[in-house]
Amino acid sequence: MKTQVAIIGAGPAGLLLGHVLRAEGIDCVVIERQTPDYVLGRIRAGVLEQGIVGMMARLGLDDRLKAEGLPHDGFNLADGERLIRIDVAALTGQQVVVYGQTEITRDLMDAAAARDLEVIYGADDVALHDIEGDAPFVTYVAHGKPQRIDARFIVGCDGFHGPSRQAIPASVARHFERVYPFGWLGILAEVPPCNHELIYANHERGFALASMRSATRSRYYIDVPLSERIEDWSDDRVWDELAIRLGPEAAARMTRGPSIEKSIAPLRSYVFEPMRHGSLLLCGDAAHIVPPTGAKGLNLAASDVHYAGEALVRWFRAGDGDSVADYSDKALARVWKSERFSWSLTKLMHRFPDDGPFERRMQLAELDYIASSVAAQTSIAENYVGLPV
Ligand SMILES: Cc1cc2nc3c(=O)[nH]c(=O)nc-3n(C[C@H](O)[C@H](O)[C@H](O)COP(=O)(O)OP(=O)(O)OC[C@H]3O[C@@H](n4cnc5c(N)ncnc54)[C@H](O)[C@@H]3O)c2cc1C
Repeated sequence: MKTQVAIIGAGPAGLLLGHVLRAEGIDCVVIERQTPDYVLGRIRAGVLEQGIVGMMARLGLDDRLKAEGLPHDGFNLADGERLIRIDVAALTGQQVVVYGQTEITRDLMDAAAARDLEVIYGADDVALHDIEGDAPFVTYVAHGKPQRIDARFIVGCDGFHGPSRQAIPASVARHFERVYPFGWLGILAEVPPCNHELIYANHERGFALASMRSATRSRYYIDVPLSERIEDWSDDRVWDELAIRLGPEAAARMTRGPSIEKSIAPLRSYVFEPMRHGSLLLCGDAAHIVPPTGAKGLNLAASDVHYAGEALVRWFRAGDGDSVADYSDKALARVWKSERFSWSLTKLMHRFPDDGPFERRMQLAELDYIASSVAAQTSIAENYVGLPV
């Protein structure tokens, strides 16, 4: 098979890029290892910046997002004693929208056939070849038979563990990483949220986040040492811990219910440079990971797709090679700012095992400063709502 762009991975980044390219008349094929149900079964991000909301609108794929997404004007930071509300709408004139990654992925998946976007699911042993030349190709195995797709470009949207990043030679690869000494234990339940906006809490027993996926579906998190096992956390134990960490007011409004999903995810900050090598571009988690504090992962994947889509359209329309050459620097400039924001919010809202009284005073001083300074709140708000692309 021959195409213009072979996209590896049908997560949100791969499907979104596929739609962006098809909307511009560029041929592409998305190659995914898993089944559609498996991809939709992953419970992940839920807070959308205006960037991805705008992309879905421009693609004409935002009917459900507009009908079911919950616009949020702000969010809250709690430190055990007080609640600091960051009024994102008043400070930036923008909102974020709560709409699950699963729903975005479903919208992109459902529209694929009608938009002539071919997605191959169940592709085993995906491998990239000749990425340094101008005739790269992808091989994979489908139903036991070897397959090959020739393309002008390959875009790796295959997440942190996919083969694309590994195809870039070690001699040019640079890795930047911070692994955190805790993970987030998340619980998803069909119960109304305890608050209409998110609450990030830094309690002496640890971090907690009250979040939601819809008006009837709540997503809560607590941080736990990496040695914890999910089997040791009954739903009751999670709800009890959340009630303590989120404080009495939120606890009084919290509706408990059986978990639909419960898991522990490790936290990591990671950036891979460069995000382009030869004819291979990387987008989303294939190139970088942020801790979920601040909800940047999915949104960063979307801004990469925006830059990659723009560069590829220019290349195919006008033969503009500079746009592809500039992709890595352009995308990384925004990636690093989001990495900074997620890392700083993680540092502010978690108790690290090695932290002593000094670090705790620093957290309290920073929270005090945020509570009293419009400038500090504006800085947080503009990062939270998403820096411009
Ligand atoms: C447990 C968890 C919780 C998260 N919570 C949040 C959150 O609350 N807020 C937030 O903003 N972000 C969150 N994230 C991050 C967010 O989900 C990711 O940033 C987002 O999924 C990135 O999209 P992506 O398309 O780049 O990668 P993925 O969603 O990882 O998609 C990659 C795709 O590539 C496919 N693939 C992998 N290997 C191969 C292969 N060999 N061949 C073919 N296909 C392959 C995968 O099956 C997958 O479908 C969370 C992530 C995790 C893991």
